[in-house]
Amino acid sequence: MTQAPLFRRLALLGCGLIGSSIARAARAQGGVAGELVVNARSAKTLARVVELGIADRVEADPAAAVQGADCVILCAPVGTYAALAEAIAPHMADGAILSDVGSTKQSVIRDVGPLVPAGVHFVPAHPLAGTEYSGPDAGFATLFEGRWCLLTPPAGTDDDAVEHIRQLWQRMGSMVSVMEPAHHDRVLAIVSHLPHLIAFTICGTADDLADETRQQVLQFAASGFRDFTRIAASDPEMWRDVFLNNREALLEMLARFTEDAQAMARAVRWGDAAYIEDKIGRGRKIRRSLIEINQA
Ligand code: NAP
Repeated sequence: MTQAPLFRRLALLGCGLIGSSIARAARAQGGVAGELVVNARSAKTLARVVELGIADRVEADPAAAVQGADCVILCAPVGTYAALAEAIAPHMADGAILSDVGSTKQSVIRDVGPLVPAGVHFVPAHPLAGTEYSGPDAGFATLFEGRWCLLTPPAGTDDDAVEHIRQLWQRMGSMVSVMEPAHHDRVLAIVSHLPHLIAFTICGTADDLADETRQQVLQFAASGFRDFTRIAASDPEMWRDVFLNNREALLEMLARFTEDAQAMARAVRWGDAAYIEDKIGRGRKIRRSLIEINQA
């Protein structure tokens, strides 16, 4: 038996990797949205969304996209959220839910919260799923399957609205958990934002080396460096906004990492084999436990 759609009209503002994956998953699932409307910044992306056939309608103006929608999801880089929220606020339907997929949560609540009109329910969310690819072609319907989606509703958010967003992600295959926004930002700083910062930095460091060495780096890139370049291929605008909008937690985790890297450097300098082996062993254990819980 097919489920009745959760939302009559779902509007997505931004249709890159995450937005287009929601569009595809919603289509594949049937039980998510009766009608799907997409807005993006460029005419090129809107034309591509039409070609791909992943929305019922595209709108160049975000205000037009949200009209009559009972759920609106911000799927653009987090630095654009304040301007988008300002543009759509007067046009949102009474009783509608406003959600997002941004990788930082305190900044989204800070930027969007004050602009949410009375009668609209604000339920921030963050799917912990992604790849290094971006744009409307990069998405796929199964991206969220078996992945966590974290909800960070501000105190006093309508329970029914939170339940609808929980259902949305569950119908797209995710496991859902509710988390306090500051805790979310610290956890994501260490498991996602810092690894990206390290990947971008190490690629830059390698690129800064003299021509001869650089050629060798690229020619003989072993798996370690290759893995960093995969992460470093991610979208620059999206990651710029993540770093700038999770500044404190990211700097805190970077400071802790720098201390630990210094301790490793000391062990290497003084030939402390036991310390080095212990740290490598810990890394291996962590990898194995991720494989066991299907999150590798
Ligand atoms: P993406 O592939 O680069 O797509 C970004 C989309 O946002 C594009 O459709 C772009 O439109 C649109 N956009 C940019 N500025 C806009 C504006 N001012 N108004 C309307 N649309 C605008 O990025 P993504 O990876 O899908 O990331 C989207 C959001 O998901 C970000 O907030 C990110 O933090 C979050 N997120 C990302 C991942 C990941 O691994 N990538 C995982 C979880 C959450 P044009 O194509 O027309 O420029």
